[in-house]
Amino acid sequence: MMEQRKPIPVSEAVRKVVEHAGKLGHERVKLEDSDQRILAEPIVAGHPVPPFDRSPYDGFAIIAASSAGASGDNRITYKIVDQIGAGAVSEKKLSGNEAVRIMTGAPLPENADAVVMFEQTVEAEDSFTIRKSFEPLENVSLKGEDVAQGETVIESGSSIHPGTVALLATFGYSTVKVAKQPVVGILSTGTELLDVSEPLVPGKIRNSNGPMIAAQLKRMGISCKTYGLSADQLDESFETVKRAAAETDCLITTGGVSVGDFDFLPAIYERLGAKVLFNKVAMRPGSVTTVAVADGKFLFGLSGNPSACFTGFELFVRPALLKIMGAENLYLPKTRAILSEDFTKANPFTRFIRAIYDGRNVSPAGFNKSNAVASIAKGNALIVLPPGTRGFKSGDEVDVLLIGVEEGSPTWTI
Ligand code: AMP
Ligand code: MG
Repeated sequence: MMEQRKPIPVSEAVRKVVEHAGKLGHERVKLEDSDQRILAEPIVAGHPVPPFDRSPYDGFAIIAASSAGASGDNRITYKIVDQIGAGAVSEKKLSGNEAVRIMTGAPLPENADAVVMFEQTVEAEDSFTIRKSFEPLENVSLKGEDVAQGETVIESGSSIHPGTVALLATFGYSTVKVAKQPVVGILSTGTELLDVSEPLVPGKIRNSNGPMIAAQLKRMGISCKTYGLSADQLDESFETVKRAAAETDCLITTGGVSVGDFDFLPAIYERLGAKVLFNKVAMRPGSVTTVAVADGKFLFGLSGNPSACFTGFELFVRPALLKIMGAENLYLPKTRAILSEDFTKANPFTRFIRAIYDGRNVSPAGFNKSNAVASIAKGNALIVLPPGTRGFKSGDEVDVLLIGVEEGSPTWTI
């Protein structure tokens, strides 16, 4: 007898997955290996940035008060008493109309409180003149203006990106405490599947889901174990899934979760004694997406249909892995955009449509069935159409999820 599956709303499915995701602890990695990892400690400023008052320009350090009254008719002359580049410190203590020739990044000499840019001077041998007065601290990059000592600049749980790496380097973090990464496995099921390198033969297709998921994981900074292809054979598939689940924290399978004669994942979950969190989601594509937990390990049963598989990963696998990795922001950045094509098809389920978002408008990325693969390649976003009886028209404002954007980034509006 075929079991009756009860669809649950997408938001409830996401909540269930996230609820079951636990952290794995943390480890120390070298700074150069930290990109894309999740911080397991806050970045605290061990010193002010900049660490000293410095020149933001190439020019001359002066005492601002000495420039009072300077004008085109009353040029004030300065004597150059020293010359320093970035990295050097002048021994000179300025007085009166003395100046130190100073390069960008060099610390201001004692008593200096303004910097005249080269372009603002007429130079002679050991002197120069200026035609305008300077305010105290004009053209000075002040100690601590960027970051104050002791400030928590980035919170624990943030994803490390190149900017974070720069900050970590600034404060001398040669190693960083980051959340441990889950071991993730991928198994592509389907007797029809060929390896990427194999020639096409009648009835068969190449496995596109496996490499796609590996790339989706890579975009999150996660490497994976690949368990290759598994034919639709209950006993064999069971053994492979059992072994893979034992070796990983999270096993992603594609295909075989539907109700066809050769869809064996439901039976495999049962044999494993796995707790099925849900096996039907009120969404298109990917309503058969199934998530189970066995011995604390996640088993993500994504649909074999490429668009459904892609969407299932972004909606369910991604936040679960981010939570496991200790991230604060689990969900895809969302924005609103103007639909630039009619989308008349109404649906009782939430629709996720692979789309092209240009910063203002969004349009379907092409052929849009759940088994489509070209539109996955062409799109950079997912249009989210809530369930309902009406369709959507060009000009309607809709929700858009941005794919491949660094989590936590503000979204782009023109
Ligand atoms: P299934 O979810 O197993 O019912 O598969 C649904 C559809 O997706 C079928 O047309 C399969 O041939 C196709 N499919 C399944 N697995 C893959 C895969 N790894 N790569 C590309 N297409 C797949
Ligand atoms: Mg199949």
